[in-house]
Amino acid sequence: MVTPGTVTDTELLADKRDTLLVALHRQGATYGLAWLGLTQGQLGLTECSSRELGTWLTRLNAAELLICRDDLPDAVRQARVPLTKRPSWQFDTALGLRKLCEQLRVAGLGGFNAQDLSVAQAAASALLCYAEHTQGRALAHVTTLNVERASDLLELPPATQRNLELTQTLRGDDSPTLLSVLDTCRTGMGSRALRRWLTYPQRDRHTALRRHEAVGAFLEHGHDRLRDSFKHVSDVERIAARIALRQVRPRELTGLRATLAVLPMLRESLPAQATPLLAELHEALTPPPEIARLLTAAVAEEPAVLVRDGGVIAPGFDAELDELRAISQNCDAFLIDLETRERARTGIGNLRVQYNKVHGFYIEVTQGQVDKVPLDYQRRQTLKNAERYITPELKAFEDKALSAQERALAREKFLYEQLIDALQPHLPALGALARALAGLDALSALAERAATLGWTRPHFAKEPCIEIEQGRHPVVEARLQETSSGPFMPNDCRLDANRRMLVITGPNMGGKSTFMRQVALIVLLAAIGSYVPAKSCRLGPIDAIHTRIGAADDLANAQSTFMLEMTEAAAIIHSATEHSLVLMDEIGRGTSTFDGLALAGAIASHLHDKNRSFTLFATHYFELTEFPAQHTRALNVHVSAAESGDDIVFLHEIQPGPASRSYGVQVARLAGMPAPLVRQARATLEALEAQQRAHNAQIDLFAAPAPAAAAEDREPSAVEAALAAIQPDALSPREALDALYRLKDLQ
Ligand code: ADP
Repeated sequence: MVTPGTVTDTELLADKRDTLLVALHRQGATYGLAWLGLTQGQLGLTECSSRELGTWLTRLNAAELLICRDDLPDAVRQARVPLTKRPSWQFDTALGLRKLCEQLRVAGLGGFNAQDLSVAQAAASALLCYAEHTQGRALAHVTTLNVERASDLLELPPATQRNLELTQTLRGDDSPTLLSVLDTCRTGMGSRALRRWLTYPQRDRHTALRRHEAVGAFLEHGHDRLRDSFKHVSDVERIAARIALRQVRPRELTGLRATLAVLPMLRESLPAQATPLLAELHEALTPPPEIARLLTAAVAEEPAVLVRDGGVIAPGFDAELDELRAISQNCDAFLIDLETRERARTGIGNLRVQYNKVHGFYIEVTQGQVDKVPLDYQRRQTLKNAERYITPELKAFEDKALSAQERALAREKFLYEQLIDALQPHLPALGALARALAGLDALSALAERAATLGWTRPHFAKEPCIEIEQGRHPVVEARLQETSSGPFMPNDCRLDANRRMLVITGPNMGGKSTFMRQVALIVLLAAIGSYVPAKSCRLGPIDAIHTRIGAADDLANAQSTFMLEMTEAAAIIHSATEHSLVLMDEIGRGTSTFDGLALAGAIASHLHDKNRSFTLFATHYFELTEFPAQHTRALNVHVSAAESGDDIVFLHEIQPGPASRSYGVQVARLAGMPAPLVRQARATLEALEAQQRAHNAQIDLFAAPAPAAAAEDREPSAVEAALAAIQPDALSPREALDALYRLKDLQ
């Protein structure tokens, strides 16, 4: 049975991404998720709140989602995954626990730190039931469990994953994205590992540090030879899964054999002593020699594509098969011999012994010679110019040859199944080998990128800071290079505990978004263990990257641009912490000027005062350049532009201080607006500016709200306190009257 989440046929699967079957279950406010990558033998569990559900669904990017309810959470609807409904009894914690223990061959889930995840276990029960149901067999290759906890991961909400174009462009293409720039892996499993690193960045820097060290070692000792050897490496991860599911094809096994053969070369070209991570990977590249021995002995040099075509098992592996093959191979000699003998016996010089699939073996005699045919010839078929005969001797031979061929094929099939049986105990070793190869491929790709693109090693600090010197946007830089559109202008970003917000102004097209995104991408790259596009980089702890960046209307969900903008901003306000990085691009653009300005001011104040996050706040409201004057941790910067006459040149350089003008009219002119229109706009602009100077009424955008508006924040008054203390049911009429007089006095 084939379903979107359980396909395992390599031809139906995307090479560079995991295909995951995911099950979702809800209990109260908790969502449990369990997922299975059949082709990589990967099983995972997590639990999350409804707020985090969208992030998880985006991260997992399920090929098929199993659910038991009709009341879909919004996040599921927005994720737009194919849904499969399963009966509710299958979502059962006890059943899930039992199935997980059976699958992992353990007595309890304590070893995986999953014993308390009861909602996720319920999801896992539906997941495993469904997988076994579709595969019709146990999943022998699934032997470990990944338990992911949101608190361990650097949070990348769906908006961030989308806006930063990590693995998909806003249009839905695979390139150009951060991953497409990063991924020079040699194998599909390497690419998939890199994609996983990118979607599961860890908050804890331990893993990233180990990868930085390994990349550094590659840069020092070279990685070309290693990457060359990877040309001979097959997708061991998927081959192992297909061995487990007994679907493996002969040529996949020769691919595995070739991979095993290059392992010594891989090990040799690995600077194993340089770092602990490389030493571990080196160690893992030594699978039991038994596997290579089996494959070499059993599988032919160049086997057929399918077992049923024969020629898959190597000669010399099985005596019986060799004998059967010898019989059918000796056919030719026998037939030539028979032909010569029959020609001599009958005197028919052009008599021929032949074979075809429909009629089997026959002796063909042309019509002119038919009268010379001896009595023991039996007619098999009459053609226009010839007759075809069979003789008892030929018939006997035919029976023997054909049955030998059939028996050889059956024998091959049997031996192939035996080979797959013999490989089963080695699945854990093959899984470990696959993980090591994938990791090594991804690491050496990171090293290659660092060398080719001139990236540097980031450093982690304990105190809060984001210090980037001459940072670049990897994807924009690559595009500029491809199109030879000039060099990328590097920019610095310095944030620390006392300097947490940059208010970024400047003309459209000036490079504000690019700058903000490059900071986020550098933070993320560092967190996954990559080098970064910057001259130097020092980063304090970061727990999340939040982005609110203008995008097209979300038509499918019938939300207006403004509603979406506010929903996303509200989510950020509620969840960003002082360790979060927040990108706000042109907030307030979706509504009227005053509305937008007022909201943008209030949001900036909240982020500055309450969330205290590291915030990059790009805005076209000049009024907001006043913000830093009243907020000590905020600072104005602007993207520079040079004017020459009516023209404008973007320098894309981040400079201190607010922008002086917005250059909107010049940009419109650059965009090809007709000259009269531009003239009219300029005249209107001048009039408006003059008018504003005349009125020049100052409004304090960032003043604290009036007391009445903030009723819930202040202390209760004396009257309110006294009122609250009165319990009407406990008072006599006389006491009630006294209380009333007391309240009147307090007024
Ligand atoms: P804004 O957000 O200010 O409207 P963008 O960040 O979208 O501007 O940048 C507009 C274009 O300018 C980008 O597509 C890119 O081609 C170019 N650009 C931006 N930053 C740089 C830079 N630092 N160096 C070179 N070109 C840049």
